[in-house]
Amino acid sequence: MTTPASLTVDLNALSHNFHALEAISGAPAHPVVKADSYGLGAVPVAKRLMAEGARTFFVARLAEGVALRAALGPEPTIYVLDGCVGDAPAALKAADLRPILNHGDQLTAWRSAHGGACGLQIDTGMNRLGFRVEDAPEPFEGLELVMSHLACADDPAEPMNRRQRDAFAAAATRYPGVTRSFANSGGCFLGADYAFDTVRPGICLYGGGPEARPDDRLKPVAALTAQVLQLRDVRAGESVGYSRGFVASMPRRIATCGAGYADGVLRSNGGEGQVWAAGALRPILGRVSMDVIAVDVTGADVTLGDTVELFGANRMLDDAARAAGTIGYELLTSITPRVPRRYVG
Ligand SMILES: *Cc1c(COP(=O)(O)O)cnc(C)c1O
Repeated sequence: MTTPASLTVDLNALSHNFHALEAISGAPAHPVVKADSYGLGAVPVAKRLMAEGARTFFVARLAEGVALRAALGPEPTIYVLDGCVGDAPAALKAADLRPILNHGDQLTAWRSAHGGACGLQIDTGMNRLGFRVEDAPEPFEGLELVMSHLACADDPAEPMNRRQRDAFAAAATRYPGVTRSFANSGGCFLGADYAFDTVRPGICLYGGGPEARPDDRLKPVAALTAQVLQLRDVRAGESVGYSRGFVASMPRRIATCGAGYADGVLRSNGGEGQVWAAGALRPILGRVSMDVIAVDVTGADVTLGDTVELFGANRMLDDAARAAGTIGYELLTSITPRVPRRYVG
């Protein structure tokens, strides 16, 4: 069966990034595998990271945790960032998941359900999830982890990073002996005083750079490729694709490639989007449509069935994201279920 668009996940590169992030931060990494590991596949990713030594994972949703527990078995610790929502205590306990308790109602619900082991989020300025520092609860039985989240970790010059770190360090003194978790991917690069006891990387495991730019200490993990379905020559004055999105001012050779917005190739690529084809970056011409894009391969040695790369080893994720006006996180999590995931390494 041909699969014009496919996502290849390099598990050796993933494990390289896992060890690199532990070395850079100086702390053990608890990988964030929410949103199906940012679209790469939470089960194969977590299994490989377990083989590399990871024993604690973070997901966002209860359902993600339930699925991960079923796949990984009883050994790893799994934290659910949403916490303990509604009738979740029973489901969390049934799957041996630990909620990150974010506010007083969650704490009450979990404790009245005799929930057991859990984590606690302190909000140090992001104003999203977590207890305000001044509302942080007394230490309690079952509390295993205290965490906070950086708002600006991708900008090392932002003074808020330091303020959040100091607020977290002070708040955590209330919970002696409880594991402290603070840095996401960007935070791993901010210095040893941001690492605390464990770090919580997501995007940099998956090949994004710490400042939304490629970083040579990390390897690309995911490659989105598409096959050339048709080649054609267009004449000067002819247009390509919907709404005459591109009009040729001189003769062009066009490769129509099998990936479109129904695969997760954002329509915003219709401006500055490029793909790697036949050894060079080449522009996407006109509109991105549901199933295909048109690529200018004028003068290039491209034949039917060749593959072009939307991002991967040759076209870095962060560069592809910037050309589409977004971030690597969104590019990865936009890849749709119809794109087969292939694992190598
Ligand atoms: C998503 C998330 C992370 C991982 O962030 P990256 O920037 O991808 O490393 C860490 N902590 C929390 C609370 C998150 O929501």
